[in-house]
Amino acid sequence: MSDFVTRFAPSPTGHIHLGTAFAALQVWEAARAAGGRFILRIEDIDRTRCLPDYTTAMLDDLAWLGLDWEEPVRIQSQHLEEYETALAPLIEKNLVYRCFRTRKEIAGEITRAPHLGADGPEGPVFTGGPLSADMEDEKLAAGEPFAWRLSMDAVRQHLGDDFDLLSFVEEGAGPTGETGEIHATPEIFGDVIVARKDIGTSYHLACTHDDALQGITHVIRGQDLFFSTHLHRLIQRLLGLPEPVYRHHRLLTGPDGRKFSKRDRSLTIRALREGGETPATIRQAWFSI
Ligand code: GLU
Repeated sequence: MSDFVTRFAPSPTGHIHLGTAFAALQVWEAARAAGGRFILRIEDIDRTRCLPDYTTAMLDDLAWLGLDWEEPVRIQSQHLEEYETALAPLIEKNLVYRCFRTRKEIAGEITRAPHLGADGPEGPVFTGGPLSADMEDEKLAAGEPFAWRLSMDAVRQHLGDDFDLLSFVEEGAGPTGETGEIHATPEIFGDVIVARKDIGTSYHLACTHDDALQGITHVIRGQDLFFSTHLHRLIQRLLGLPEPVYRHHRLLTGPDGRKFSKRDRSLTIRALREGGETPATIRQAWFSI
């Protein structure tokens, strides 16, 4: 077996549709082609959107499609305290600050990163900075909940010239066809939230932490996460984590050219299974593989 390790890391927010199945197959096939390992990880930290029943159904659908994976499957919601520990060095080095504001309160203070567009992974970009020490003490004393935001200014200062030298290796292609060594521009996210008020972590932190923990050498995922990679490189650098190689793949779109989404109920693997499709017909008709 080679030292190639990759993973598929879905969030169980609904029954998987063709787009998710296509993404899963890309990763699984890549592991097979490289003679490497395939890891499945359930990214369910958002307890309002992710349901355990969807996880069960997802595993069943992926197995039906012919995928197999190593056991046990890591379920992120069972490891929230580990992500808190991962955040600690950022707090110690003053690279993050508390944010007590609600979405509504910051609505007037955000801009949208042109690169990300309205559908970007984070959309709004906030660079408002921390509250004054007095105000912060007041809010802490009142027990107000807060998120932790990465301070791009503090991070830039901390890394010095290294900030502008951050890059990652793209073996697939970014949305504009970019490939090879890509200059990372995490500042497009502004002061991004790395630990949410409600769960004490975020997709970005949990994902980079787990990629390192699980020894992932190749992150293979859809082009919609290309910009997240810019930020993940920064988090890896700040936490001293190893740097995987990235392969962003095209997203499977429906006949109308749109990305599949939860709205496309008839195109969930579950519905297609019930309608008599087989894994082979799905691969040929939809994935051309
Ligand atoms: N859990 C993320 C999602 O379903 C994907 C994470 C990743 O591949 O990095 O969108």
